[in-house]
Order: sequence, then C-alpha cells, then structure tokens
Amino acid sequence: MSEHVPVSDTSNAANRELVDSQPPDNQTHWTDGIELPTECVSCSEPFTGDYCSVCGQKRLTRRHRFGPMLWDAITKFIDYESGFLHTLIELFKQPGVVARKYASGEKQCFISPITVFVLGSALQLFSLWLVQGQLVDSISARFASQAANNPEMAKQFAKAEERIGQPLPELMANSYINAMQQGYMYAGFLFFCLPFAFGLKLFHNALGEPFYLGETMIFALFVFGQTLIITAVLTPIALQIHVSLQAAVGIISYIVMPQWAHGGFFRSTAASRVMTTLATVLAIGCFLGAIFCVGLVSLAFALFTQLG
Ligand SMILES: [Zn+2]
Repeated sequence: MSEHVPVSDTSNAANRELVDSQPPDNQTHWTDGIELPTECVSCSEPFTGDYCSVCGQKRLTRRHRFGPMLWDAITKFIDYESGFLHTLIELFKQPGVVARKYASGEKQCFISPITVFVLGSALQLFSLWLVQGQLVDSISARFASQAANNPEMAKQFAKAEERIGQPLPELMANSYINAMQQGYMYAGFLFFCLPFAFGLKLFHNALGEPFYLGETMIFALFVFGQTLIITAVLTPIALQIHVSLQAAVGIISYIVMPQWAHGGFFRSTAASRVMTTLATVLAIGCFLGAIFCVGLVSLAFALFTQLG
C-alpha cells in the first residue's frame, strides 16, 4: 500500500500517519490527481457508452476545468431548451402545466422544483436584505407616530427603552425581519409547502382526484418557488409606495398564484378550485401561525438578552 506515496522517512510520526490513512488500492491517492475512469465509479461495471448500463452513472469524459465548468453553468442557465430560463418562461406562461409535465415524468427540459424553490428563497432573502434598513425605519416611525398621539404609550416606550437600552419599536422591527428571514429559509418549506402539499392531496383525494403527496409537493414547490421570485421583485417596489403594501403584496401573491396554477395541474371544475383554495388557506394559516411564534420567541429572546 505504501507505494502510493513517496515517503522518505517512515520513522517520522506524521508520515506514518499518512501511510496508515491510505485509501484502498483501487483508488488513487488525493495528491496524485484525478483519473478518467474506465469502469463505473458507483458499481464497477465497465463503461460501454457515456452512461453506466447498470446504474445510469454518467461517465466522466474529461476532467473538470474551470472554463468549461463556468460555460456549462451559464448554458444551463440560459439554455432555451432545458435550462433555468426555459423553466422560468414556461412557469410564467402556464405555471400549473410545468408542474403537471414534471410530475408526469417530463423532467429533461425543466430544472427541478426544489431548485426553483431554493432559488426563490435565496432571491427573497437578498431582497429582504436590500430593504432591511428601510423596513426597520418605517416600522419604527409608525410606532413613534402612534406614541406621539398617545402619552401613556410614549411613557411605556420610554420606560422600556431605559431598561433594554434600545428603542422598543426598533427591537420589534428587527424581530419582525428576523421572523421573515426564518420564513424564507426552513419555515417556508416546513410551514407552507408541506401543509399546502398535504392539504392539496387530502382535499383533492376527497373529490376523487387521486394524487400522491410527492406529486402535490411538486406543484407546491414550483408554485411557491415562483411566488417567492415574484415577491422578491415586488417587495422593494411596494415598500417604496407604502410599508403596509409590502405585506399586502405578499399575501395577495400567495392567494393568487395557486389559483393561477390550478387549472394546469388539477381539474378545472369549481369544486376542485375550492379544494385548492382550502389548501391555500390551510398553508397560509400554518405559515402565519409559525412566523408569529418565531417572531414572538425572537422578541422574547432579544428582550431577555438585553435585560441580562
Ligand atoms: Zn454503474
């Protein structure tokens, strides 16, 4: 085994450790570089084409170099036949149909619903980061103007600020933003997509439309991934107009999008549409409830750490 590494002095403890941690004989050592495989790296079946005939593992035909890698990433993005841009354009033409095609196995020409969802979440987080300062300012200003008309409230705010060493409205605004950030990370999936997909399956099954949870999940991820992309663009615009418009735009998008996508995936009957609406209401309820709890916990935690 030791022939893989030129070790001049094996009495050296560090060198001996290197020899001991040698990979099995069939693998090259990490310092040797990477070789192009002649047999499948997953199941050892000899390659006859570009894919393993047993397990479908793609054959590495050239080593990874940065230039071609970058080009691959760019073409994957702009490719009108199968790339991200194609999926996005199709989503904006008929959102439900993309989910329907994908669930029916037509996967080659679309990026996965999880990618759309993760991308939407990332865009939304970026958009929130852009407007964070402005959002804190407008929420604080709203509380301040309320306090200006209410001496009792102003007294409470001053007392709280003295104790926590930070204006209370600012603390509340930060907790709100923190809750929204959680919402665009794990909470969006756990408390929105999951209840939505589950509700869709349950309610549509009751109507005699037999869907599996995985299929309604494809619909949920595509639809809300797209909604996140839309709200990521609309949030900063709405905030320029009025702070409450930002929340309204969010909620309206989450109600309108499933209705828009519905016909391409489910039956176009009124009863079926009602079921999609019910699932949407269930998901929005779960999400707002969860975000409210997260916001409350984050506020309590902030107060607790400030008070010491
Ligand atoms: Zn294989």
